[in-house]
Amino acid sequence: MKGGTTSKSLGICRHCRVEEAEIRLNYARLNLCGKCFVKFVERKVARTINEYHMIEKHDRILVAISGGKDSAALLHLIRRIMPDTEVICLHIDLGIKGFSDVCRQKAEELVKYENVELTIVSLEDFLGYRLDELTSRRRRICSLCGLMRRYILNYYGLAYGVTKIATGHNLDDAVAILWDFYIRGDLLEALKFQPVTKLIHPKAIPRIKPLIELTDFELKIYADIKSLPYTLTQCSFGRESKLNRRKKLVESIELMYPAFKHTFLKSHVKRVSPLLSGLTSRSINWKSCSRCGMPSRGDVCSVCRIKKSLKKRG
Ligand SMILES: [Zn+2]
Ligand SMILES: [Zn+2]
Repeated sequence: MKGGTTSKSLGICRHCRVEEAEIRLNYARLNLCGKCFVKFVERKVARTINEYHMIEKHDRILVAISGGKDSAALLHLIRRIMPDTEVICLHIDLGIKGFSDVCRQKAEELVKYENVELTIVSLEDFLGYRLDELTSRRRRICSLCGLMRRYILNYYGLAYGVTKIATGHNLDDAVAILWDFYIRGDLLEALKFQPVTKLIHPKAIPRIKPLIELTDFELKIYADIKSLPYTLTQCSFGRESKLNRRKKLVESIELMYPAFKHTFLKSHVKRVSPLLSGLTSRSINWKSCSRCGMPSRGDVCSVCRIKKSLKKRG
């Protein structure tokens, strides 16, 4: 298992100096054995959680389980690092043929493995339509899907009385998302993307990203070493999505500029955001949606507007 280009032996593990190294982390120039790698990942997530005060004693956490490796690792890591924290798992069945069934099955296997309960919400029940039925209706299916997922998590989070929502965004996701905002000069949107996101609204549950400092590569290996059930199947809409194209671009930069992703995120969180933080609080005045009461920029929130337009068109 190598995150780099070499096919040579990786030598002895740099941490324990006993076992043979199996995993190469190029950005850190670090070769580790499986055991030390697991410790390395767990320590890193514990540090992220502490540094940003993501989880405190009284917290009840809603974990969004997608069926993929990131949310599988997220659930496992939170339970390892903070065994006394109450965790509630939610899976959203998007109703995408061939994809959603696999995801649902893996989500179910995972909670069984972790011995926790799972609530499954189907988008069809929530919206009246499956996601793949909306393709002919709405062009920007990925952003619609993201919007619906955020809404549903917040909705059920409120129903279950959780204090935080944890999502599986990793470093590769973060840099690919931020990249677009920076290139477009959309600093307000960029500023909203943080390890911890708090909206000033009584019905907005704070969101935490405990995996934000781990790469796709690290999470896949962690999930494999731990034998966590997950699927690598990608959504047919998302496979060629802008986000995935950005990820490939960022990866090609990382090859020439090791630790590019870590530097990018660190600059965003530690340097740019504090400088500009006054901008976000002034920019958006959150109201309550007149239909559902959820946070909204206008009188009616985007989800209620979508629901209404779907009903109209039948
Ligand atoms: Zn070792
Ligand atoms: Zn609404």
